[in-house]
Amino acid sequence: MNVSAHRAYSLLKELAYVRVSCSEEERRAAQRLLEEAQSAGAEAHIEDFTVKCGKVTHQKLVVTEPFVKEFEVTGYERSASTPEGGVDLPFYYAESVHPTHLLNVKGKAVLINGRLRKKDYEKLLKAGAAAILTFSGSTVDRHSESDCDIRKLREALTDDLGDCVALNMRADAAAEIVRRGAKTVHLEVQNENYDGVSCNVCAVIPGTKYPDEVISFGAHFDSVHFSTGVYDNMSGSVIIMELLRYFSVHKPQRTMQFNWYGSEEQGLLGSKAWVAAHKDELDKHVLMINIDVAAPTLGQNVAPVLATEAAVGYVDALMREAGVACETKLDIYSSDCIPFADNGVPAVNLCRFGAPGAGYIHDRRDNLKSGYLDEKALDITLQQALFLAKRVDEARVFPIEKKICDEIKTKVDEYLFKKKDK
Ligand SMILES: [Zn+2]
Repeated sequence: MNVSAHRAYSLLKELAYVRVSCSEEERRAAQRLLEEAQSAGAEAHIEDFTVKCGKVTHQKLVVTEPFVKEFEVTGYERSASTPEGGVDLPFYYAESVHPTHLLNVKGKAVLINGRLRKKDYEKLLKAGAAAILTFSGSTVDRHSESDCDIRKLREALTDDLGDCVALNMRADAAAEIVRRGAKTVHLEVQNENYDGVSCNVCAVIPGTKYPDEVISFGAHFDSVHFSTGVYDNMSGSVIIMELLRYFSVHKPQRTMQFNWYGSEEQGLLGSKAWVAAHKDELDKHVLMINIDVAAPTLGQNVAPVLATEAAVGYVDALMREAGVACETKLDIYSSDCIPFADNGVPAVNLCRFGAPGAGYIHDRRDNLKSGYLDEKALDITLQQALFLAKRVDEARVFPIEKKICDEIKTKVDEYLFKKKDK
């Protein structure tokens, strides 16, 4: 029995639909992954966890001065709701949260560039912004070929800082509003918060020789809105399923834990929930191997390692031995490896990034119809993962020290917004 990129790619095609956190489709994909793991002969089950969700039932943005025009917007999930009838606010384009701009945002609807990051959110609220506007996509997007992205005020922002009226629009709308010198806007948002249920799919193959040493494999199976998430990250999900099939037949020496995480796109919620629920088992975990994005035809292989320079050297040497061109580096990676590294478990990420112009992520173009993925390219990461997994499993002494260097610890703490001890 060997791994098969063809079989993996067939499963990817079957699961190529939008799978947003807490949706029916996310659950349907989990059930399918569960069946597949069980049919390979592994003990497998689903673990649920709660997610703070929001449902926006109404949203509106109208520029009222010096011209009148309504623009398409989406309210942030978990946004504050406006009072009945909406609010009328002065409009201000802040570009960034530079102090010069912060002087001018009080009581206004403030448009910023890019993503709403926690630091910026905090500064805007402290400076008295009355509403936050963001934009997504590109100014050359055609409406019929793109979507007005749906975003969320994540718990990481609102738990410490509270909520705020927040809306997202298209890049061309933002450009028109700024170019035409909008002075006042009318905003309406109605949002209802609720507790949603998401899940992880978990399977275990007990080790024959060192059952108390656990190698865990991870891949998230959820997607963002509008995206079928075949690249990000059903590709990684089907790769670890192939590894599970392989090791179900070729029994490993060490215990292998396979986790497909839900709600990664909402802030690594699945892996955070799993680590929290299994905290007392983590002292047995010797390595986490995470796969998040694979299969672009034109692309490059990168392996961020959250451990030590020695671990980077080891993984790099293995990749050379396998004959795979892979940029192995000491770095964090925004994925489910983070909660593991945060708990002292070394992590290796295997990623194949699309080359510029040949990789689409987090929008409707992450779709099989876009034609940038193929099964031969998926096989590259599959073979890399199998080689790494076999070599670490067959080692007499586990080759990666259970240590996270200070540089990575600091980056993980910053990523998780941990407050520094004073
Ligand atoms: Zn991803």
